[in-house]
Amino acid sequence: MKKIISIIIASILVCSLAVSLVGCGHEHSFVKVDAEEKTCYENGNTEYYTCSCGLYFSEPNENAQIEKDSWVILAGHEPIRQEAKEPSCAVGNIEYYDCLCGKKFLDANAQNEIVDNSWQIPATGEHDYKKESYRQEENKIYKITSCSCGAEQKQEFSGYTLVNPSNANDVINTAREGVFVLGDGDYGITTSLGVYGEEFGDITLIGTEGVFIRRITLDKSLFSNVTIKGFSFDGISNGQDGVRVMVEMGKLTIESCEFLVESCIRGDEGNITSLFVKDSYFHQADYNNQGQFSPIYVPRLVDEVEIVGNTFINCRFNAIQLGGVMTATVLIESNVIDGTRSRAFRFVSVMATMIIRNNTISNVQNLDMAYIDEVGSFGAILFDGNTYNGEAWNPGDVPAESTEVFVLRDIDND
Ligand SMILES: [Zn+2]
Ligand SMILES: [Zn+2]
Ligand SMILES: [Zn+2]
Repeated sequence: MKKIISIIIASILVCSLAVSLVGCGHEHSFVKVDAEEKTCYENGNTEYYTCSCGLYFSEPNENAQIEKDSWVILAGHEPIRQEAKEPSCAVGNIEYYDCLCGKKFLDANAQNEIVDNSWQIPATGEHDYKKESYRQEENKIYKITSCSCGAEQKQEFSGYTLVNPSNANDVINTAREGVFVLGDGDYGITTSLGVYGEEFGDITLIGTEGVFIRRITLDKSLFSNVTIKGFSFDGISNGQDGVRVMVEMGKLTIESCEFLVESCIRGDEGNITSLFVKDSYFHQADYNNQGQFSPIYVPRLVDEVEIVGNTFINCRFNAIQLGGVMTATVLIESNVIDGTRSRAFRFVSVMATMIIRNNTISNVQNLDMAYIDEVGSFGAILFDGNTYNGEAWNPGDVPAESTEVFVLRDIDND
């Protein structure tokens, strides 16, 4: 009898064990435990569910059973890399890793904490006077060079003709050569250079800080060397702002200008022999002409091209588009291109020597880094020292004798 009772009790035990294992009869009552972010010092967890039977689930479903503690996200720092910076008037720093909690580390895994100020490099006190502009005070013009901290160097400028909004076109078109400073004032839509049938000598146009201007047009005449500097082109989007060349001309130099307009340097209605664009700033340009897009849009260049030290921010399409550079030597150097919807570069009908070096490119959105079409018989192209999103981007050989060459983003962004 005792033996029979033992067997019955054992059977009941086995049965109840079986019930909880296979779920026969017990319906789990899922209790949700909210997800909790981890911090530098405390563990977090993913969302999970418990039941009074002692089992755990990733979702309220009997088939989603998980191991205890599989939801734990371990505490830990998440340091972000900070690039090294040379000291100037401001302190510099070595490369280090910065965590939101305020701790600094030498490494990405937060193994070597920096407990003192050794990540900083003391300021040298030397300003970096880089940005150039021109200022009118009373009837004097000063050349200003400024540091990003706001410090300025000021030097009286001489050897120019001062013009104003009411006489600028007449004075310049009558003289047809010389250095002209556009004094403070609203120059409206266009300052137009050119007189039918006349040739211009060397012209330099300088914009002062108080100038409001939308466009400078070179038209009607034959121009040799034109230099445009210190202007901030500002205006509504009408696709026709900035510097517009509508005739044949020699050398066009754009220096220390700021373009807050759609079309910045447009040469498709004319013919520019040599183009130099330096230390200028292009912001959100999105000029569109028959499917060609670029703040610098010059489809016919012959001799020499330098695009150096410029900044291109959020260009809607290509940042630099050049075409017809048949015999030109092209140098594209030390530019910052941050954000384009299409490409950093687009070249059409290229048979020249091109040097593309030390450019810092980031956030090219949809297409390729560079696009070269109608190559013809290619001269030479050299990529060197360029970075894309902080990593080296220097594609090797660009295939020649091809009608369509894509230089793809060859960066592995993880
Ligand atoms: Zn249960
Ligand atoms: Zn931390
Ligand atoms: Zn400074």
